[in-house]
Amino acid sequence: MLLSVIVPCLNEEENVVPFYEELMKNGPFFEKEGLEVEILYVNDGSSDGTSAEVKRLHEKDERVHLISFSRNFGKEAAIYAGFSRSKGDYVVMMDVDLQDPPSLLPEMFSYIRQGYDSVATRRVTRKGEPPIRSFFARLFYKIMNRISKTEVVDGARDYRLMTRQVVDSILSMCEYNRFTKGIFGWVGYETKWIDYENIERAHGRTKFNFWKLFLYSLDGITAFSTVPLAISSVMGVLFCFVAFIAILALVVKNLIYHDPVAGWPSLVCIILLVSGVQLFCVGILGQYMAKTYLEVKQRPIFLVKEEF
Ligand code: UDP
Ligand code: MG
Repeated sequence: MLLSVIVPCLNEEENVVPFYEELMKNGPFFEKEGLEVEILYVNDGSSDGTSAEVKRLHEKDERVHLISFSRNFGKEAAIYAGFSRSKGDYVVMMDVDLQDPPSLLPEMFSYIRQGYDSVATRRVTRKGEPPIRSFFARLFYKIMNRISKTEVVDGARDYRLMTRQVVDSILSMCEYNRFTKGIFGWVGYETKWIDYENIERAHGRTKFNFWKLFLYSLDGITAFSTVPLAISSVMGVLFCFVAFIAILALVVKNLIYHDPVAGWPSLVCIILLVSGVQLFCVGILGQYMAKTYLEVKQRPIFLVKEEF
């Protein structure tokens, strides 16, 4: 039996070796279970010595492999590349910064042995994260789960162990806009959730700033819900109704009380409001159009510069 470990890396030269050492502490466990291991580091267009570090590891240990992208394609693309190159009967993906502790692997594996198809992890605390980021993250999960049929679990990490069957299902979803958290929910299968406390990253800094996460959340919403599109229809109906009432009121005011409508300020306000709403709705439409445009072009999800 082969276990593939997929590790996306963006400028993580100081984490490559510590991760390897931490993972290999599971050596006795792998042996006991009769598991061979392959480690696929996916270099997502790093500008530091990440590739060189992996190469050095590869010279010492043939089980270490590298997939190096021609530029930064994003973590989602890196995960997809890892899946598509993995040969394992079981596949686990985890971050290289040791926020996903490899010491959990034996426990995760025991659930696979019990018959689960996939074992996922979730952090129960957001300790060490800026409060404003936690607030918006929670809000995102709340909105997402309200407007999408696909379940997206709050606090879910990209640390998952799964069987080949699940991996093949994920690979069959070859969309360009990849929102992995949604994809896992979409493919289904029996998933066991394991909770753990948030762990701070070993070296270096996070690669996701607030803006990147915000755009990512929009990707998630457009990829797994069409409810925003319905918003424009609902608003349209609502505004027609309000306009109808207003017209009625004005007619009555004019005919019965002989009080003509005065001034342009009210008009300007209405024009501003309505055109704002219209632009907002066109914007939503545009988001979906843009995503569709990107899908239709069928560009490759990633390009490989070097691989061994
Ligand atoms: N990562 C990547 N490509 C990117 C951004 C991040 O491969 O464009 C990798 C990164 O090297 C790390 C993992 O994805 O192994 C998670 O990133 P990070 O720890 O910065 O995110 P956080 O844990 O803060 O959410
Ligand atoms: Mg991290």
